[in-house]
Amino acid sequence: MAKDAFLPLTNKILACRGCGLHGNKILGRGHDKSKIMLISEAPTQEDCASGKPFVGRCGMLLSRMLVEAGIDEDDLYITNIVKCSPPNNRKPKRDEIDACKRFLAKELWLIKPIIVIALGQTAASLFMQSKEKIGKLVGQEKEQYYGYTVIPAFHPAYILRNPSRKDPNKPYLRNLAIFKDIKERFFA
Ligand code: SF4
Repeated sequence: MAKDAFLPLTNKILACRGCGLHGNKILGRGHDKSKIMLISEAPTQEDCASGKPFVGRCGMLLSRMLVEAGIDEDDLYITNIVKCSPPNNRKPKRDEIDACKRFLAKELWLIKPIIVIALGQTAASLFMQSKEKIGKLVGQEKEQYYGYTVIPAFHPAYILRNPSRKDPNKPYLRNLAIFKDIKERFFA
């Protein structure tokens, strides 16, 4: 994320000490006018080491699902709710999300996606404003006041812990169904 329109935001994020997480800042990556934005909760320690979101085992699994669905990863925009990595890859706390979400709001405003795929419980709960478990939320669609529609999906880390790739009720194939639907609707 370094194109001209993003520079003021990039600079603000890089200078931010707005919560106790402040450390390596991991910015979004991908197509800056994408119709589809993937949003997860926070960068991992692996992301910090590489300087990009969604690398390591989770990133590889996400890439594999996108390839299987026929989606070019470069056509998407991928980011996190908080831009610094919580210690020991824990979930970001409410006050950390509250401190950081202004940056995500600006990314949404700049990119103007049609669909936001909320990856994992934290992102799904935030965007759907729901306390339901991720298994219930996955695949639902909710239109947002700002013009985009949110679809929750499983976080790749969750799929790594529930690895069946044959059972349509398990996370891998449920996510794949979402990505295939996105392919048909937006990239056919
Ligand atoms: S997580 Fe967000 S609010 Fe907290 S220091 Fe990093 S950029 Fe600033």
